[in-house]
Amino acid sequence: MHRRYFETIIERHEVRFKVLVNSQRLCIAGISSTDQGVLNADLSLVTKTPNGDKCEMLVHSSQMAAGCLTFAMKSIEVGDEVTIRALSDGEFDTGQPTYYLDPDLAVSLEQVAREQLSDFNEAEEKFANAERACPRCATKFVSIGNHGQCPSCGFIFLASHPEGDQPW
Ligand SMILES: [Zn+2]
Repeated sequence: MHRRYFETIIERHEVRFKVLVNSQRLCIAGISSTDQGVLNADLSLVTKTPNGDKCEMLVHSSQMAAGCLTFAMKSIEVGDEVTIRALSDGEFDTGQPTYYLDPDLAVSLEQVAREQLSDFNEAEEKFANAERACPRCATKFVSIGNHGQCPSCGFIFLASHPEGDQPW
């Protein structure tokens, strides 16, 4: 009984935006009645970019099932008129995934992460039992691994850099 009531509420609250720039249709964005999330129409002004000030209209959504979608993005010039009209149920444009990760890039990022972890573990073993002096308070101690914290003053540094040139 409660479940049916909940579904009805979601359907009633489906919303769409129709966005026009100078009376020309930019897009109709929406969230499906089977999904839930936030629909945004943002007018942004970013000052002092390398190419000067940038004014942009971005229509996008964040949804539970469909993820983050972009419906439209357009540069806005001085004098442009942007209209955002809230609409009830109906059809809307297909959004494009806002974040796209190239599969080849994903593989190489994973490879880099694996190599970094391998280097980290290697350094942890290599610098275990190294005799060091804390760069800050000069307390002498034997390192447990590469990454550590001075037992006396709490300074965090790498045993592989006993001069303290690469704190983390
Ligand atoms: Zn110390």
